[in-house]
Amino acid sequence: MTDETKIDDYLEIAEVIAVNADWKKALDVLLPTLRSFFLFDNLALYLKEKEQINLIDIVYARAVGRGKSAEADVDWGQEIAAQVLDKDEMVVKIPDSTTPRTERTSFPYFLGLPLRTSQGLIGALLFVRFGGPGYTKEQIRSARFLAAQFASMFERRLLYGEVVALQDARRQINLQEDFIATISHELRTPLGFIKGYTTTLLRSEANWDDETRNEFLTIIDEETDHLASLIDHMLESARLQSQTLMMKFQPVRLDLLLRDAMVRSQARYKDLQVNTNIIKLPLILADGVRLTQVFQNLFTNAAKYAPGSPVDIHVRQDGEKIRIEFSDQGPGIPPEHLPYIFDKFYRVPGYGTSGSGLGLFICGEIIKAHQGTLSAQSEVGKGTTFIIELPARKTAT
Ligand code: ADP
Repeated sequence: MTDETKIDDYLEIAEVIAVNADWKKALDVLLPTLRSFFLFDNLALYLKEKEQINLIDIVYARAVGRGKSAEADVDWGQEIAAQVLDKDEMVVKIPDSTTPRTERTSFPYFLGLPLRTSQGLIGALLFVRFGGPGYTKEQIRSARFLAAQFASMFERRLLYGEVVALQDARRQINLQEDFIATISHELRTPLGFIKGYTTTLLRSEANWDDETRNEFLTIIDEETDHLASLIDHMLESARLQSQTLMMKFQPVRLDLLLRDAMVRSQARYKDLQVNTNIIKLPLILADGVRLTQVFQNLFTNAAKYAPGSPVDIHVRQDGEKIRIEFSDQGPGIPPEHLPYIFDKFYRVPGYGTSGSGLGLFICGEIIKAHQGTLSAQSEVGKGTTFIIELPARKTAT
């Protein structure tokens, strides 16, 4: 190989590694270049397991030599990788010269190199050549160059993971700060009404007629319910967070639960119009109270965020899955907010209606506890559809 071709190969390797965020893809792209760099049959990458310092995991393995499939089944140098990590140095292992040479694959020449980053030793890069020849000094230097490039690629991946985790944590902190502001406002508003109307009723000099007194008491009653439901939401989400919300699984009929939630919601929201195709569904194992809560929450959201729009309920059973869709024709949810509506405390700005941003989070967790999924599709100006998918696990009864 001429010096110039060699430099071209070095360049290509460095460039492919620099531009590819996906390290597996980068390695697949590089494999042919690596083979022209120096001959090898198998290449394997080992990384230390994060929590357990003495364990290594093979994360990449490719057989590229002549009898590919035969070589895929042979030794990938795990033992050599363990030695590299143990000694924190390069390990070369060649077959014993006294053994008679029959099968190529019984004569592996191993070259193991440490993968070092600023965080320390993170793994090993292993080359295997079956039947030799041994590795020249120059080839070993090239292999060290590769190991350094791979190590920096993994370091970048680690850092990228940390940046994403930090961004998530930051978003969570912002949400909690917003939540404290929202929740103090949300708790204060009903409390203000309750206090105001109670003080008014208690004023000794005033003499309220029955109708006015009733009107005031109704407001106090409604605001107390609102306050209680806010507190329930907060407690439930705290329990879900600490996983102490117990589910009571029993055989239930989903169609009956849906009807029940519909009737209750229509009693609460007198104008709520619901179109359904609720079909008879088989008994499934579920927590009926929790699922009714989810359905009611979706009705309540439709009444709050899509006022005046009918809600279409569509139920389907697809083999092992039961799919329930709640569609409204409300204002919809802008695409930049849609991925977050199931997050704790998340509220789409600008709606003005009261709420805690906990409802959909709680619904999502309840559905998850049933091994199901809750998702949403929405188009601004057209409406929103919430989709619940539950496994139709048969019950014994
Ligand atoms: P809350 O109603 O207490 O704010 P949720 O978790 O139930 O909290 O809902 C999160 C957000 O998702 C709401 O604040 C609202 O912006 C949006 N949302 C929920 N349901 C709908 C719907 N049917 N149409 C439009 N937006 C909705």
